[in-house]
Order: sequence, then structure tokens, then C-alpha cells
Amino acid sequence: MVKNVLYTLSFLLFSSLAMGTNDYSECNEGYVSSIGGEMEKNAGCSGLTLNNGWKAGKEADSTEVARLGIDNCFAVEKIDKTIADRIRGKSYKDGCNIPLDNLRYVRVLHRDYEGRTLYGELICDKSIAEDLKCIFHQLYDAGYPIERMVLIDNYGADDVKSMSDNNTSCFNYRKVAGSNSLSKHSLGKAIDINPLYNPYVKKKNNGTMVVNPEQSRKYALRNGKFRYKIEKGDLCYRLFKSRGFRWGGEWRTVKDYQHFEK
Ligand SMILES: [Zn+2]
Repeated sequence: MVKNVLYTLSFLLFSSLAMGTNDYSECNEGYVSSIGGEMEKNAGCSGLTLNNGWKAGKEADSTEVARLGIDNCFAVEKIDKTIADRIRGKSYKDGCNIPLDNLRYVRVLHRDYEGRTLYGELICDKSIAEDLKCIFHQLYDAGYPIERMVLIDNYGADDVKSMSDNNTSCFNYRKVAGSNSLSKHSLGKAIDINPLYNPYVKKKNNGTMVVNPEQSRKYALRNGKFRYKIEKGDLCYRLFKSRGFRWGGEWRTVKDYQHFEK
């Protein structure tokens, strides 16, 4: 009996210690399983559905986060009716041939440059949902700043409006700017992070530069120091690269500093 009590106590002590550390074993498993090609395992969904109650874009306080539990603040869900209604006719445009079942709603917390904690949300392909959940959990723990993360549908799926508001977003059924081919965002396999400070930049033959969004021209040259800047070798870059994403900042013909894709 005494032995059993001692065993239980030591187990509880160990569990509470383990909870206090940053345990990314689930994240590592997601990484391994994606290498192994077990896509369904990678598309795990949380038990608690909070679509209606998740206040994306709003500031979160520690009491509320503790009440929800950290595992419910970084979670992957299937697209339910509430979310489907939000995106239909916007990011999920008429003629979009991506089955809704391929997409996932990902809930995260993130911190802005001032250190505030905010509720974030995104929609992506199920093959990268666990990647994104884990990456944003690690960025949150490290205090990596992300200003805003709400569905692009809040901007009528208008990419320029979303970028101009420095909104981080992923799925949007649209063509590559200035071309007829579908963007990786159409599949939910590309994400734009802190886009106002990390613009798309294209040098034209006549020496002029196309910068998107236009008001980010001052961030097109990357030699200064400024908030929300993504740089080669920083934590954001390393986490995405370690999971097999490509960074638009390393493309040769154009530079898309906000963009990671898989
Ligand atoms: Zn992009």
C-alpha cells in the first residue's frame, strides 16, 4: 500500500515536472512521420473544437490560456461548417477544386513585437498542419514576434489588404501575382509571415523594382535592422527549413521574404 502511494506520488511529481518543460516529442513525431510519408498521422486533430469560441486576432491573457490548456491553444481541426461558411466565396472561391477535407484549421498563440500574446488562426493543407502547429508553438515559446494571424477571409481574401495589415496567412485560392498559374497558397502549402516587413521583391530589366505590398518599399533592401524582419539563420527560418520548407528569400529571380512553402 505504502509502496503504491509512493509510486503514485513520484509519478505525479514526474508528470508535473515534465509538463513544465518544453516537450516537443509530439512535434518530432510529426516530423518523422512526414518523412515516412504517413500523411494521415500528420493530420491529427484535437478533441476540443473551439471554432466558435476562438477569438483570433484578440489579445489573450494568461488566465484564459491556463483555463483552455496549452494543448488546446495549439491544435489542428477539420474544417467544420462555421469555418466553411467563413471561407466560401472568399479564400475558397467559386471554382476551387480543393476538397475541404484536404484542408485543416490550425489554432495557435503568438506574440507581437511588444510581447503581447494573441490568438492566431490559419487554414492549410493537412500535410503541413502538424508542421505549422509545432513551428508556431516553438516560435511562441521563444517569443518570436508575429503581429497578426487571422484568416485572409477577414480581408475579403484580398492579399494586398492582408499584407498591408501585416497579417500572416496561408490558404488562399489564387493565381501567382502577374501570372496564370495557381499559387502554392491555393493548395494551402505556402504561408506568408509578417508580410508588411518581408515583401515580395522583383527587379525588372530596366532596373526598377516591383515591391508587394507597395508601401513596403523601404523593407525591400534587407541590410537594415527593423521589427518583424525574417533573416536567413533566424529561428523562423531554421524551423521551417528543418521541416523541409523552401524560403522565398532564397529564390534567385524574385525574392519573397514573407513566403515559406512545401
Ligand atoms: Zn506567399
